[in-house]
Amino acid sequence: MGAPIAKGPLTRRAVVLLLVAAVVLGAATLHRLVFADLQGPTFEFSGDAMGTRFVVKLVAPSLTRGEYAELAAAIVERIETVNDALSTWDPDSEISRFNAHESTSAVPASGAFRTVLKAARAVGEESGGAFDITVRPLVQAWGFGDGARAPGGPTPEELAALRERVGHDRVRVGINSVAKRRGDVVVDVSAIAKGFGVDEVSRELVSRGHPRHLVEIGGELQARGQRADDTPWRVAIEEPDSEGRAVHRLLSISDTGMATSGDYRAWYEEDGVRISHTIDPRSGLPVRHGLASVTVLHPETMYADAWATALSVLGPEEGHRLASSRGLAAYFIIRAEDGTFRTSWTPAFESLAGAAVDLEP
Ligand code: ADP
Ligand code: MG
Repeated sequence: MGAPIAKGPLTRRAVVLLLVAAVVLGAATLHRLVFADLQGPTFEFSGDAMGTRFVVKLVAPSLTRGEYAELAAAIVERIETVNDALSTWDPDSEISRFNAHESTSAVPASGAFRTVLKAARAVGEESGGAFDITVRPLVQAWGFGDGARAPGGPTPEELAALRERVGHDRVRVGINSVAKRRGDVVVDVSAIAKGFGVDEVSRELVSRGHPRHLVEIGGELQARGQRADDTPWRVAIEEPDSEGRAVHRLLSISDTGMATSGDYRAWYEEDGVRISHTIDPRSGLPVRHGLASVTVLHPETMYADAWATALSVLGPEEGHRLASSRGLAAYFIIRAEDGTFRTSWTPAFESLAGAAVDLEP
């Protein structure tokens, strides 16, 4: 038995009052949305980037709507600049035009393109040719990328011809230009570009006065400063199986890049053998050792990314030896014959991430 409900049509006066109330309330809500500060201290931005997703977590006491929108636009613009330079999927990108240009004459090149080519060259040399951005013809011949696979893979004759076009020294980087050593060389920076993109976004945030952040593009990341509660960022090394996204190990890290390369995302099986999308440029063959994944920590995500790929070519033994001798922080997950996993890591990894983490499985 509540208050009696008025029956019949509302009076004109009531209708007008209701309309006015609705407009006032609506305007007030809109005002709150547009002008109120966003609740900190951690802000998140995410979207599509470089054929995958990006996530940025940013620690700031507060941001206004305007500042938030401005930062989001700056992040997207940085990612687009990297894409315009390095995307092999975009036929108009700088790298695609360079690949299509079948001559050995020097062409003007952006800072982004030259930076990535120089870093790729350095890791190529230091890894004895295990990292090689000219490997694409071989990757395609084995049926990865956009290549169609002949059953059994390329013949030895085809391989020999393709390998003429492959080598980490096949591209020269000048002060403002780049040049191929053979007109038919093509470059594919997908094993290093995401790391570079992460560093670019991170630099953008620092330059805008936001040094505490986590930037991630498709699993490669940069953790700068500390979280809102003044503890290091917590990131996961995934369990290397194709199904789930289970956590293998949690790391506490600050001021470092991190990248993982693994055979568990892109591979196919032939005659019971896993054919991995990582090709050993030295032999022209897909890698076949039992390395399931390798995670590298490096101040620059670009180098973490390239080294993760290089070490995944070299494998658990050779890779571990080289990483240890170069003082690289690397963590290996190795697939045993019986399907179980064993792990190993370098001394530099232990000093960077080991202290805060229980390394026992
Ligand atoms: P993901 O792209 O899965 O993060 P990587 O960073 O290891 O993994 O990059 C793999 C890609 O790198 C391959 O799809 C291929 O285009 C390219 N690639 C394959 N082998 C090599 C190599 N030896 N050196 C450099 N790039 C390679
Ligand atoms: Mg890589």
